[in-house]
Amino acid sequence: MLTSYISPVAAEKLKRSAKRIARAEVPKSRMTVTNQTEVTRLLTDHFRCPDELLDFSVSMNQSAGTGYFRFGPDAVCYGPCSSGALASSVTGNLHDALQDVSIDNSEVQLPFDPVQIVNNLRHERYQCRHPHGRSANKTSGLVRKLYYLARPFLTIAMRKHLQRLYLGDWEKIPFPHWPVDSTVESIQEQLLVLSMKSHNIRSIPFIWFWPKGALSCTAVTHDVETTAGWNFCSQLMDIDDSFGIKSAFQVVPEERYTVHQSGLDSIKARGFELNIHDLNHDGNLMTDREEFMRRVSGINHHGKKFGALGFRAAVLYRNIDWYHALDFDYDMSIPNVAHLDPQRGGCCTVFPFFNGKMIELPVTMAQDYSIFHILNDYSIDLWKQQIALIREKHGLMQMIVHPDYILGTAERRVYADLLTYLAELRDRGETWIALPAEVTAWWRLRNELRLVNEGGKWSIQGNGREDARIAYATLVDEKLTYVLDPVA
Ligand SMILES: [Zn+2]
Repeated sequence: MLTSYISPVAAEKLKRSAKRIARAEVPKSRMTVTNQTEVTRLLTDHFRCPDELLDFSVSMNQSAGTGYFRFGPDAVCYGPCSSGALASSVTGNLHDALQDVSIDNSEVQLPFDPVQIVNNLRHERYQCRHPHGRSANKTSGLVRKLYYLARPFLTIAMRKHLQRLYLGDWEKIPFPHWPVDSTVESIQEQLLVLSMKSHNIRSIPFIWFWPKGALSCTAVTHDVETTAGWNFCSQLMDIDDSFGIKSAFQVVPEERYTVHQSGLDSIKARGFELNIHDLNHDGNLMTDREEFMRRVSGINHHGKKFGALGFRAAVLYRNIDWYHALDFDYDMSIPNVAHLDPQRGGCCTVFPFFNGKMIELPVTMAQDYSIFHILNDYSIDLWKQQIALIREKHGLMQMIVHPDYILGTAERRVYADLLTYLAELRDRGETWIALPAEVTAWWRLRNELRLVNEGGKWSIQGNGREDARIAYATLVDEKLTYVLDPVA
């Protein structure tokens, strides 16, 4: 069992390391100071560990071009790198840049900039590099426009047929990893392991990911697509409530259906969450920048009027570079791996992350529509598989279940099975089921907490620390494992 403090030797190393950084003795010839701070922040944003142990430099001799390479067995990276050959395709043998990492006087020297690599993943700047990785925004914009023009005249069966044709190649997409991709976490873990090795320690304290030591987090969300879905919201709240689960409803503010104030009030009064879903859901929000900027003022206006803190675009169409115009606390439009979505890609992380002033809550599980109508699967098998993979990383399970698509008996039974499974996990203390606003508030609060060592004992300082727990990332047989500190 782990003690609640790291060894005196390691503590001494920590102190020495802190002093060395304070005296600016770290050679800066290989990188800029700003970059070093950003690499440190990449890890402290995720782990909230003491930054004295994080000591990185990045080679200045980066390749002019970009390409794919590996960082250890689990992480596919895309970007520039100073060592090895960069591949133009993700398939085949990729150079492993881990073998080019060196440690010099406690400093981890990296052949690539992990901040840039992680941003390329989170912002989906790696796609269009393999034949199946098309981006809906670019190569299939015309197809999308035609589809949405024809959509009102298509039967469900015709829509399903077209969508299956369009998504037919999904199983051949080599990256991101299906059905869950946690490449960002693999990179962060690998960097933490290197930091521990560079300081010759086996264990490092950090602030556990979720409040009260919850082992993972779950957010259930409902996008309301049509009048039928809107009319079902009250019953859906009854269903969720019967499992003791509160969920978030994303409502389209214009054109699609008539939104009654009493319906909106009821969602909030019952303790559920109300967010904005696109503007009119015509599939053209992200068609071009000018159009987006025209629509975003309306979206922000409705957000204020509804008292909504969160936003999700229709069909998970997205362009993260434009998000600064959205006046919301958080966004929920980026899938973890988007093989079954019209806009391919995925942010390759199962954790919330900061994007400017907003927090991004990735959609980490397949949508109900895709499971029922693309995969023709009326079970929770895929969801359980995704839940297991996300729980391995202690991440966020965020799912979209549309009131419109669970009107039928078979679909509703599948949804009830999912809620049963989630409630069991919650009751065993294995997941914290929370509203997206609560998840975001926690991620912001945790980001302000600090680990402090006083007299060889670690404690958490900062407002709201009562729900936070100390954990240890420990190297066991060269594998990183997490252990929660017993509550004092
Ligand atoms: Zn929608």
